[in-house]
This record gives sequence, C-alpha cells and structure tokens, in this order.
Amino acid sequence: MTKNKKVIIIGGGLAGMSAGCHLQNNGFDTEIFEMHACSGGLCTSWKRKDYMIDGCIHFMMGVSPTDSSYQFWSDLIDMKSIDFIYHDAHCVVEDINKNRISFYSNVNQLENELLSKAPEDKKQIKKLIRLIKKFSKLNLPVDKPYELMNMKDKLKVAYLMMPYLYTLLKYVKISNKEFAAKFKNPNLKRAFETAFIGETPSFYSIMTMVWRHKKEMGYPKGGAVHISSLIEKKYKAAGGNIHFNSKTAKILVENNVVKGIELENGEKHYANLIVSAADGRSTVYDMLGGKFKDPNIIERYEGDIFETIDKTLYVSVGINKDFSDQPHKLHFELNKPIRIDPMTELNVLETTHFCDDPSSAPKGKSLLSLMPESKDWKYWVNLRKTDIQKYKQEKERIANEIIEALDNCYGNVKENIEMIDVATPATYIRYTNNWTGGQISWKATHKTFGKPTLWQINGLSNFYMTGQWAGISGGLSNVVMMGNHLTQIICKNEGLKFNR
Ligand SMILES: Cc1cc2nc3c(=O)[nH]c(=O)nc-3n(C[C@H](O)[C@H](O)[C@H](O)COP(=O)(O)OP(=O)(O)OC[C@H]3O[C@@H](n4cnc5c(N)ncnc54)[C@H](O)[C@@H]3O)c2cc1C
Repeated sequence: MTKNKKVIIIGGGLAGMSAGCHLQNNGFDTEIFEMHACSGGLCTSWKRKDYMIDGCIHFMMGVSPTDSSYQFWSDLIDMKSIDFIYHDAHCVVEDINKNRISFYSNVNQLENELLSKAPEDKKQIKKLIRLIKKFSKLNLPVDKPYELMNMKDKLKVAYLMMPYLYTLLKYVKISNKEFAAKFKNPNLKRAFETAFIGETPSFYSIMTMVWRHKKEMGYPKGGAVHISSLIEKKYKAAGGNIHFNSKTAKILVENNVVKGIELENGEKHYANLIVSAADGRSTVYDMLGGKFKDPNIIERYEGDIFETIDKTLYVSVGINKDFSDQPHKLHFELNKPIRIDPMTELNVLETTHFCDDPSSAPKGKSLLSLMPESKDWKYWVNLRKTDIQKYKQEKERIANEIIEALDNCYGNVKENIEMIDVATPATYIRYTNNWTGGQISWKATHKTFGKPTLWQINGLSNFYMTGQWAGISGGLSNVVMMGNHLTQIICKNEGLKFNR
C-alpha cells in the first residue's frame, strides 16, 4: 500500500492543477512549484486601466453535459455556477468591399448563409453540412486513457468509431486549404481559408462547427482568470499546496530514478514522484539536462513530424465605444498590409470583442483582442534582449497600425482609444516559459494524429509528464482531462484503485 506518497508537480497551469486535484483525491500529498506569482499558466487574464484582458480563452470546449469532456470540467468546477456565452457565429469574414460571410453556429443557419452567398457551390456546401450533422452524433468514451484500455474498451471504441472511421481519416488528411479549394465561389473559398487555419486537418474545423452547433463550446463570463482561480481553490480545498515564484532549474536523478527538484534559488525538495506539467522542451533538455531521451522524445523534439504551433502577438485595445452590435469575431481585409516581424506581413486581421462579458470593460465600452500572426518568434525574443527601446517602439508601431486598420473597418475608433496592450511571444515565454511563446504546443496535423501521449520517458523511474507538450496538442479541456488520465495511470502503477 503506497498511500500518502509525496508528489511534486512542476507548473501550476491548468494541467498541473488538474493533476494535483485528482492526485489529492486519491490519497497523494502533492505540492505544486510554479515559477510565476500566480496560477493558471497560459490560462490567465490581466488588468489594464478599466479593462480586464482575457489573455487566453476565446472558446472553452466540453461545456455541455452532452460532450464527454464535460465530466473533466465538472470534477474541478461547479459548471452550473458559470454563465456561458454561446456566440451565434464562429466568426464572420469580411472582404475589402465589406461583403460578409458568417460561419453561423447553427448548422441550418450556416447552410442558408453559405447557399445564399455561393449558390454555385451547392454540392460542396451540402457535403460540409452533411459532415457536420454526421459528426454531431459522434461522442467517444474518453473516461480512460488509451494506455489503460483493455480489449473490451478498445472493442467498444472500435464499434462506436466504425460508422465514422473512413470519413474521419479522410478529413484528417484533407487540410482546410484543400477543403477551401473545392469551393468555386472565390469569396467563399477565401472566407473558408481565412476562418479556418490553412494547414490544419479539415476534420478539426468540422468538429469546431459541430461543437458550436451543439453548444458544447462557449465563453465563460469572468474569463480565463475566473476559470483558473476556481481550479486553484479546488486544489487548495483538497489539501494541495502551491509555491509561487519557485522556478525549477533541475530535476534531481540518481541511478535513473527521479528523487526531487532543485529550484533556481538552490533550494532542494524531495518526493516519491515528480510530475512535470511545465514546458516540455525545458523539462527534457534543461531540467533533465538532455540525458534521458527515448524514441518518442526524439520524434517530438528532434524530428520533423511535430512542429510547434504558429505564433501570434496578442494585441488588446480598450475603446470608449460599444461594439456589442458587431460580430464577436470578425476577419477583415486591410487596405494596407501590416508588417509584424521580418518574416510576416499581414493582409487580414482577426478581431474579437468581449462585450457579452461585463467583467471585460466598463458599461458602454469595449475590449477588443487581436492575434496577428508572427512567424519569427525569435525576432521578438532577441529584440527584447538586445534593444528594449526598439522592442517597445515596434510594439507601439504595430498597435498604431492596427488602430488605424480598426478605424477604417469600424469607424470612430482612433479618438476613443483608452488602453493598448501588446504581448509578444517573448512575453508568453517570460511569464510561462513555453518554448517558442505560442498559444499552444504542437500544430495539429495529419502526421501527429493518433500519436501516443508522452506520460513517461523510458529508462527514467518515478517521473511523469502532463499538459500541452505531453499531448499531441493543447487546449484547456484537453489538459484538464490529462490531469485525470495521468492520475489513473499513476494509481495503476502504484497498485491503487482510482477514485474520481
Ligand atoms: C492567446 C491564447 C489564446 C488561447 N485560446 C484558447 C482557447 O480559446 N481555448 C482553449 O481551449 N485554449 C486556448 N489556449 C491554449 C491553452 O491556454 C493552453 O493549451 C493551456 O492553458 C495549456 O495548459 P498547461 O497547463 O499544459 O500549460 P501552461 O499553461 O503553459 O502551464 C505551465 C505552467 O508551468 C509553469 N512553469 C514553466 N516552467 C516552469 C519551471 N521551470 N518551474 C516552475 N514552473 C514552471 C508556467 O509558469 C505555467 O504556469 C490559448 C492560449 C493562448 C496563449
């Protein structure tokens, strides 16, 4: 019997806190060591003047009991206490002549919209709608991690997947760009490609439309900080302890057995098990010194199958103007391109307003956030290191050009600006240590589909990993689920029965 084993968790993001809650509930004594002064990791918000910037959530998946990941949220949060907003469209795409195509959440409304805007594409539109309706019926059992499934569980999944498998694999291989290319109407072609990221498998975009239609995807009022603080409360109530401003520098290993951690300030802490819920690359190459690499690690970090997600800036503006009659997410074409970094010039901007959430801005005013792509993340890191003045000037220049573009798009913006905030990949690295400073970890591609989760490294005992780098991609509901799955695996390895 190994009850009350001590577990150290590196990183107090959602993955680390979810693992902490489940481990506490299963009789382990856990402590989280978090480098930042607060919990949440990427799932965070910050206050600027009268505005609360949600630096993360645009949509949260698994927010309805009809979705199998709802249970993982309910383990941590009283979901009924949260007021979710369900937007009537995933997004709206506007061309240079102000013609708009709305990707409505409701599938019938979506069908009518697309048919009215591109009647010549009736066949392809009907196909898209059929796919959304077909996958609306798919709900996979995710209560157990794949590694713990027995033959009966696998047969059950295979049986449930049978009617979908051929179509699913087909649309995992067809990218959004290829799907868009099948439309004849140039506006719809361009709008689809703008609304759904080009190289991503179109299966993921179809599923996004499914979740929107079924109201399984929503925005929680109170935003990212509300969600992460509720999970922190749950963890503390379960007896967990978080140490802030405590960056792990080394994972201590003796004879291939992990014994503890050493913080940047030299303090050493020991435990029976160590879980890294922090950035994957620094876990493997810095904290473990690159000494423990199995084929799965090498495939991820040294091969060409896994690519990190495309990077963006995160630009927020507070405006003394009510945007609530505008689409919550609008992509619009620019009159003049905006240069973001030496490798990126943009012709389209995507803007989101948070007017449905009163905590984001004072009444009658609006918070807008934009995530302009920035291909050259190293440029921002180096510029901040070598020339902080130029770094600030570049952020300001981009903010001004964006405000000019917003003014052209919506009118009366420039004179009503009250707050501007620009975060770069360097900002996300500084606060969360995430490699490349992207929004999530890996790009979801057909090459990574179905790859195993990196829970452990072969040849290293008493050590586990969780979170967005251990999975094949990130996302809040995913990393929250991983905390549950990891605890099931640890319980199995420790000979304990898992309690939810
Ligand atoms: C702008 C933006 C928009 C996003 N939008 C969405 C969205 O709409 N929907 C969605 O589902 N997801 C979204 N995401 C992605 C989502 O936020 C992440 O996938 C998820 O939060 C990752 O959780 P995590 O716990 O695995 O990692 P993290 O949140 O990165 O947590 C890791 C933690 O480890 C800490 N840490 C790192 N190194 C150390 C160390 N050496 N010692 C101690 N602590 C350390 C970090 O400070 C951090 O707190 C978005 C992210 C961003 C940035």
